[in-house]
Amino acid sequence: MPRTLKKTNLKQDPRALDQKYVWHPFTQMRDWVRSKPIVIQSGKGVMLTDHEGNSYIDANASIWTNLHGHNNPKINRAIQNQLKQISHSSALGFANEPASYLAKELIEATRLTKRPKSSPQPKLAKVFFSDDGSTAMEAALKLHHQHTCRARPKITPRYLSLESSYHGDTVGAMSLSHSPLFHKPFGKIRFAVDRVMAPYCYRCPHNRAKPSREDARNTRQCKWECIGKVEKKLNRAKQAGKPYTAFVIEPLIQGAAGMIAHPEGYLSKLERLIRKHKLHLIADEVMTGFGRTGSLIACHREGVQPDFLALAKGLTGGYLPMAATLTTQEVFDSFLGPYESFRSFFHGHSFTGNQLGSAAALANLEILQSKASLQRRQKLEQWFQDGLSQLWQDPHVGDIRRVGLIAGIEIVQDRDQRTPYPITEQIGIKVCQAMAKHGVLTRPIGNVIALLLIYTMTKGQVTQVIDSLAKALREVTGERD
Ligand code: PMP
Repeated sequence: MPRTLKKTNLKQDPRALDQKYVWHPFTQMRDWVRSKPIVIQSGKGVMLTDHEGNSYIDANASIWTNLHGHNNPKINRAIQNQLKQISHSSALGFANEPASYLAKELIEATRLTKRPKSSPQPKLAKVFFSDDGSTAMEAALKLHHQHTCRARPKITPRYLSLESSYHGDTVGAMSLSHSPLFHKPFGKIRFAVDRVMAPYCYRCPHNRAKPSREDARNTRQCKWECIGKVEKKLNRAKQAGKPYTAFVIEPLIQGAAGMIAHPEGYLSKLERLIRKHKLHLIADEVMTGFGRTGSLIACHREGVQPDFLALAKGLTGGYLPMAATLTTQEVFDSFLGPYESFRSFFHGHSFTGNQLGSAAALANLEILQSKASLQRRQKLEQWFQDGLSQLWQDPHVGDIRRVGLIAGIEIVQDRDQRTPYPITEQIGIKVCQAMAKHGVLTRPIGNVIALLLIYTMTKGQVTQVIDSLAKALREVTGERD
């Protein structure tokens, strides 16, 4: 007889069970089993409560997933109503109501309304559902690959992506990424994908302008060398008769690379080159989608529409694992043919188009597109900007990068020289541990503290997040008031 959760809880400490049995992702388990991990028991709005009754602000939106708060009444209701119908049936051979509605809503919500006349943009027409960010990227990769092999049989699909980019941990998504720390051990099983300089202005080897306190991304001396490098690569590949067929990018801001915010105009300049060279633009909006950067998808901030759009994390408001890869009619059509031609897309997962996830996603989109949420996000962005600017007072803040409701604060040993702290100092981890003591939870990316605000956060809570970071920095770096 399986024991009920209640019985287990009564008898055993969940922390001890976790440390005995669970293997956590992206975690040095030697340190984990010696530590006293926080065990999350419940959540309400932006607050998380642990099993000992301590409350914290969720300042990274539960690894960039949550949008409208935990235990959101509208999303809860949508899931509860769906539960009364059915939780899951297969998309292999059957359709279902919520997934059909959701596909239509996604196509409509991601339509580019202000389309620049000068460059005709692709029209997203079809939705392929999967489970998470990595599978959304795998689907984009395989769809592009197979489509290209059919549409351009004389060439082999070739990919270009940015330095330090991160698109997931499955083998295809890993191949598209350039994250040496995460993916180096798998060099032999990754396929070759070329990389090009990322527009990481703070550590740009070309633009030596010192950042001002207010704007660390001082681009006055910038000649867009990063774009020049893309152009060179595309030209060289074309001349060699081995053109690239797709450019893969996290638009506006690269998350796992350390919240590297791209300078304004980078994406639209890049897109012009992509169109000129007839590449597909694969936009990984797993982190940036669903209003995080200001518009529903980040690409739209620069009037760009991708050929493939990968969505996950926030799709269900951060409730359930569900993802989607959107693409064009042209790509879809290349998979059509008589049954015996086997042109079908032979790819999919058991929980594709899951009803509970779809119901949550529909409720999420409704909230997201409401006037109240839109206005709230605009206000929140202003509070966030004002709060972040105070952090310049700390001499160990080297760069503050914000796009919409996402920010990365890069901590340095020496601001003038932009000297990073040695990795052995674990400065990011220490700062986040100190923040937790002040009631705020987030997770570092190396020496960068990532903050992603849940859209229902109050002004007071934004202040608390910023204050806790300021205090933690002083405590960890030893600076006094
Ligand atoms: N792409 C991006 C931009 C991401 O940030 C992530 C996850 N952090 C992924 C893909 C992979 O998503 P998942 O962890 O849901 O597989």
